[in-house]
Amino acid sequence: MTKLKKQFKAESKKLLDMMINSIYTNKEIFLRELISNASDAIDKLYYRSLTDKKVSVDKDELEIRIKIDKDNRTLTISDNGIGMSEEELETNLGTIAKSGSELFKQNNDKQKDIDIIGQFGVGFYSSFMVSDKVVVNSKSIDDKKSYTWTSEGASGYTIEEGNKKDNGTEITLYLKESDDDNSYEEFLEEYNIERLIKKYSDYIHYPIKMLVERTETKNDKEEKISEDKTLNSMIPIWKKSEKEVKEEEYNDFYTDKFYDYEKPLKVIRSSVEGRCSYTSLLFIPSHAPFDYYSKEYEKGLQLYSKGVLIMDKCSDLLPDYFSFVKGLVDSEDISLNISRETLQENYQIELIAKSLETKIKKELENFLEEDRENYEKFFKDFGMQLKYGVYSSYGAKKDVLGDLLLFTSSKDKKYTTLKEYVERMKEGQDTIYYACGESIDKIDMLPQVETVKEKEYEILYLTDYMDEFVFKTMMEYDGKNFMNVSDEKLDLDSEEEKEELKKSNEKNSKLFDEMKSILNDSVSKVQFTHRLKNHPVCLTSKGEVSTEMEKVLNSMPNNQNVKAETILEINENHPISKKLEKLHKEKNKEELEKYTKILYQEARLIEGLPVDNPTELTNLICEIISK
Ligand code: ADP
Repeated sequence: MTKLKKQFKAESKKLLDMMINSIYTNKEIFLRELISNASDAIDKLYYRSLTDKKVSVDKDELEIRIKIDKDNRTLTISDNGIGMSEEELETNLGTIAKSGSELFKQNNDKQKDIDIIGQFGVGFYSSFMVSDKVVVNSKSIDDKKSYTWTSEGASGYTIEEGNKKDNGTEITLYLKESDDDNSYEEFLEEYNIERLIKKYSDYIHYPIKMLVERTETKNDKEEKISEDKTLNSMIPIWKKSEKEVKEEEYNDFYTDKFYDYEKPLKVIRSSVEGRCSYTSLLFIPSHAPFDYYSKEYEKGLQLYSKGVLIMDKCSDLLPDYFSFVKGLVDSEDISLNISRETLQENYQIELIAKSLETKIKKELENFLEEDRENYEKFFKDFGMQLKYGVYSSYGAKKDVLGDLLLFTSSKDKKYTTLKEYVERMKEGQDTIYYACGESIDKIDMLPQVETVKEKEYEILYLTDYMDEFVFKTMMEYDGKNFMNVSDEKLDLDSEEEKEELKKSNEKNSKLFDEMKSILNDSVSKVQFTHRLKNHPVCLTSKGEVSTEMEKVLNSMPNNQNVKAETILEINENHPISKKLEKLHKEKNKEELEKYTKILYQEARLIEGLPVDNPTELTNLICEIISK
């Protein structure tokens, strides 16, 4: 076979250059990366043996090995895992991992790149931080032949047939020459390798072995004995007692296992004994993954049976509204042979999922109570998912999720919970008031808002398109109904005022009918109101669909042309009402038509709705102001 030199893919080359030029100072992480890959490869082989009768493994023989060769200045890391075929060597080592490449593609900032390497790790390529040549010898479980991948860095790589007999991968690093700034000799020292394994890879659940020499004195003679030493404790981090694990270890574990470059916002541990016993280690990420609100995002927790990974993303363990949670569950009561098909009817999984849901809810409640600042940060990224949970369950989950929701309040323009709102309610107030709009500023400009504020009622600003649907599905909170300040039913008047308004509306019913027909029945009613303090008009809505909901529903792909039942309300205390009465009395149809059209379009503008015919409107206004 001829050796043909191949080029790396573009992003790989960028990453490789960074590695070779060593902009990142914490070079020792290469060992963590290679061991993590080796462990994954053994996991894959083990996992295969569970489902593929042709593949059998002896659990006791699965291991990772490290070999130091001081004379040749090489360090070798090998595993007896699944191995790589020629094609896999090509695709896996010639291109960088998808998640990693996405991160680097988005980024042109060197410091950020360094942060990503530090916290996220960059896998196999990190070997080039310490080596000027890397040789990968690998035999796939599915292939009779083995192959050798060799690269001296950015110039490219070669692949040729090799002579490895057993399945697995052996990676040999030819360490760089030391210079003034860096010493690579330290990676040839046993004690140092041992220290690094303890620091980064202690929890790896396969033994990491190294041949060490020990001197023994026998009959006054010093004798050198070589023996295998297992460098890691193999106790998974979630099996260690809570006191034993430092926060930093959890963070490292999380960033390494769950491909995040930032440490988690919260770590949740629990151990449950009962009908189904399990240990879980959960994390709440500090930010939403880039694909979180897309179809590509897959929720799920890793599932272990007695410390062995049996499924990477078990989605049945998490409800959709907690899909942001990352982590793992380890249970002795789950069979090793569980498959995706049998999973769904699995009683134990169901029990664990229920118990986790309760646990996560409780932790989020504590989080909200004890660390408001970070909870708000969390809510900004994941609040939408919680709201969606209330909505998509038709309110069935409102008891689980209702208290976790935050909304901005007119009290201080800060986040509030519904519970806090209710606690602050005025005496005699039995309704939770809210107003909808694109932004807080825009909502504040709504004429309907002014009067409610004037009467000193607190308003929740709903700026997210989902918000009002959430309230509609919740129906009530703590026995209090929700009411949109633009709802026709909003009524803050005294009995006397109400009576007065009723009379005046009855008196003018002919005027309103005429106005309604001028508007071609675009509104279901025209009437006087007291809800507006200084503003002349507004639109309110009657029934289940508000104008804001109309906007949202009609922007959806399956637009069903939903129409809110709108009412044009005119401020009875505004001079415009007298003007309208006068025009009607004088039977000045022509003028009344112009006024009506202008008022209706004004009300639409205020609501953020489009004007039906801008030319007509501007012409009408011009005509009137030129008089
Ligand atoms: P990542 O581990 O994040 O996917 P890496 O660059 O470390 O990225 O590795 C790329 C791919 O190469 C891995 O996903 C895996 O498929 C393969 N690989 C790396 N090391 C090994 C190994 N020791 N045995 C088998 N496959 C490996």
